[in-house]
Amino acid sequence: MDNAAMNNADAPISLTKPIRSIAGVREDHAIKLEQLGVVNVGRLLAHLPHRHEWIRAQSGLGDLEVGVIGSAIGEISATKVAGFGRKSRFQAVLVDETGRVDLVFFNQAFLAKKLHPGMMLRVQGKPNRYGGGLQMSNPNFTIIPDDELAELSSEQDDEYRPVYPATEGITSEQIRRIVTRVLSSACELIEDHLPESFREQRSMPTLSRAYQMMHTPESEADVKAARRRLAYDELLMLQLGVHMKRAHLRQTLTAPALERTPEIDARLEARMPFVLTDAQKRVVGEISRDLGLRVPMNRLVQGDVGSGKTVVALDAMLLAIAHGHQAALMAPTELLAEQHFLSIQSMLEGGTVRVALLTGSMNPQERSAARARIESGEVDLIIGTHALVSQGVGFHSLAVAVIDEQHRFGVQQRAQFRVKGGGGEIDTHETPHVLVMTATPIPRTIGLTIFGDLDISTIDGMPPGRSAVVTTHVGTDRRSAVYQRVRARIEMGEQAFVVVPAIDTGASNTSNALRDLRSVQAELEGGELNGLRVASMHGRLERATREHIMGRFRAGLIDCLVATTVIEVGVDVPNATVMVIEEADRFGLAQLHQLRGRVGRGAKPGFCVLIAEPSTDDGIQRLNAMVETTSGFVLSERDLAIRGPGDVFGTRQSGMPPFQVADPLKDLELLQMARRDAAEWINKSPNLDRAEDTVARRRLLKSHGKWLGIGDVG
Ligand code: ADP
Ligand code: MG
Repeated sequence: MDNAAMNNADAPISLTKPIRSIAGVREDHAIKLEQLGVVNVGRLLAHLPHRHEWIRAQSGLGDLEVGVIGSAIGEISATKVAGFGRKSRFQAVLVDETGRVDLVFFNQAFLAKKLHPGMMLRVQGKPNRYGGGLQMSNPNFTIIPDDELAELSSEQDDEYRPVYPATEGITSEQIRRIVTRVLSSACELIEDHLPESFREQRSMPTLSRAYQMMHTPESEADVKAARRRLAYDELLMLQLGVHMKRAHLRQTLTAPALERTPEIDARLEARMPFVLTDAQKRVVGEISRDLGLRVPMNRLVQGDVGSGKTVVALDAMLLAIAHGHQAALMAPTELLAEQHFLSIQSMLEGGTVRVALLTGSMNPQERSAARARIESGEVDLIIGTHALVSQGVGFHSLAVAVIDEQHRFGVQQRAQFRVKGGGGEIDTHETPHVLVMTATPIPRTIGLTIFGDLDISTIDGMPPGRSAVVTTHVGTDRRSAVYQRVRARIEMGEQAFVVVPAIDTGASNTSNALRDLRSVQAELEGGELNGLRVASMHGRLERATREHIMGRFRAGLIDCLVATTVIEVGVDVPNATVMVIEEADRFGLAQLHQLRGRVGRGAKPGFCVLIAEPSTDDGIQRLNAMVETTSGFVLSERDLAIRGPGDVFGTRQSGMPPFQVADPLKDLELLQMARRDAAEWINKSPNLDRAEDTVARRRLLKSHGKWLGIGDVG
């Protein structure tokens, strides 16, 4: 120990006091803790147990009873490994002055390296009778270091104990002892960032009490109460950050106010090809309220595949145009952009709205012509791909921007639309109202709610007259029967999709891994579809070819479209009733659900056949989920269960600090509370600069300032 640290040892406790200067902490333990990121007292308090367990009052080995969970300490008197391979087991004999118990650990032969005769062991488990004596199988155990033996006699009562994340060289129990040393004096130093009345209204303990209960609970209830407070704090801090940032954007950015008038309403209604459902009307209302203000809208519309999001977006876009502004619709694929372009153009036929398309694959002349018209204001409604924002287009007067199928763009990506001001320069204060649409609900949406600053509208009903799609899963041996059925439906005048994982255009250098995938080409040559009017659709086709084929399919001149997943979004042909997905186990659940959403869009019943020989557990689970439900809501929850939240949230890429205590999915109620509270708080104090906000502000900037880019606020 160096001099400075020695001096520190006598220093009064503070939350920044280094671990190694806490009196009585062994240097090797301090080093291990530092490796765990626990460098000072504050970090030690924040090193929370990942679970707790009851340690039953100590008894002698001779007092253990068959079938009753008990805890005892003894010395290992002998060990051996028996059996081989998967059947191997490690056995140890534990003795004390009152008796003996045999321990057996199945499939854990490695314990032979860890447990040796002469060691003292605390075991907890349920003994059973074995031979003449008692045996415990796979008991919980802790090796008791020599320096703790003296303290053992104090363990007289049942105790609910924390189990800490530990590492080689320091056990959970050793961490617990260090925490216990500083806990009560350190807790006295913890300031609470929540005012007392605020806390009491929400039945939350003080922060200090929460840490105390987490580290030294008396019961499960203590841990629960502590957890609730700490999880809430994590969620609240993030929400405060999100709302603070949003308040700042609102102070600096404005969008045109687009009021609805009876006259405009009548004009919009005349353009709608059908009567909106109640759900659609409600969402249109929510959007209209936002659009009427100078505050830029930032709203997510979620609705299952086929719920009718497009017209809702169209309504908002036409409102912008009615006010003499432009509107843009951005789609994740060229195919979808083209389909939107065609269907919106035909819907607006005979009117005065000028529609343009801008995608990355247009040739340079087409593209610069389109850009020029967008920049000069010669077009009103612009439909395109990411090219709309990535190619530096400066809109003449963009008032509403719609991002369709936003989940396909990636969770964190924020599209920046650039609007020109009066002088023709890009205006950094003027921004469009943004409407984000997604069919991939809950988990991702929760992600957006937490990580983003979006308001949410939900289209929770389907247009009338839809019949549910029946989904089946069959093995490859049934393939020809499936295609017989496809044929029968086509003969009844219906249309079909066949989706395959890959294309073989001849141009690609097929790697070995891809060679055995069923390709579009193979499907066409396989004879399954002989005599039918079949066309293929994939991403490498020229735009003109794509449009030609889609036009013919839409017109019923093609019976069956063999395609890659490019058709996952944006194909809307109500007469198509059959969706066959080859090697369905290769696709993700969200993707399968989207593909299935291509059928069942009209009045005729749709069916979806998944052909697959799944080889993984996940694959089997995904297929089962598809067969069992058609609800996107249920599916996304199943997806989450199969893949785990980290994957779904994609937090790693976003650099978002993960929660330590909160689980945004399980703690949904707390999340909502935190969201409301944060909104109110920021409303009262947008910069958190009142005296009573000091602690909250300091903690907020520390944990989220950098990520949210609000480190420099105030
Ligand atoms: P999604 O939400 O998947 O984008 P779409 O907007 O493509 O759904 O709509 C799916 C289909 O439902 C389209 O054919 C559309 O014309 C039709 N549709 C949407 N709203 C209604 C409605 N209120 N009544 C009847 N059909 C509707
Ligand atoms: Mg859509």
